Amino acid sequence: MLVAAGLLVAFVLVVLLGRPGMRQCRWREDRSAGVDGTLWRCAACGASTPGARGRPPRRCLKGDTA
Ligand SMILES: [Zn+2]
Repeated sequence: MLVAAGLLVAFVLVVLLGRPGMRQCRWREDRSAGVDGTLWRCAACGASTPGARGRPPRRCLKGDTA
């Protein structure tokens, strides 16, 4: 019975975390690509945007063509 409960919990977590728009963006700084400032790349959705160093974008830019 514990196994069934564990599977149910895991299934719920997968559904909740897998929903579009609920994924957390993971911004990574790429200083080699930026001429002025830095280039931020999202490891979750692959979006990239220029910005200031040490200050990652707050929202996901997936779908935007910057
Ligand atoms: Zn993203």
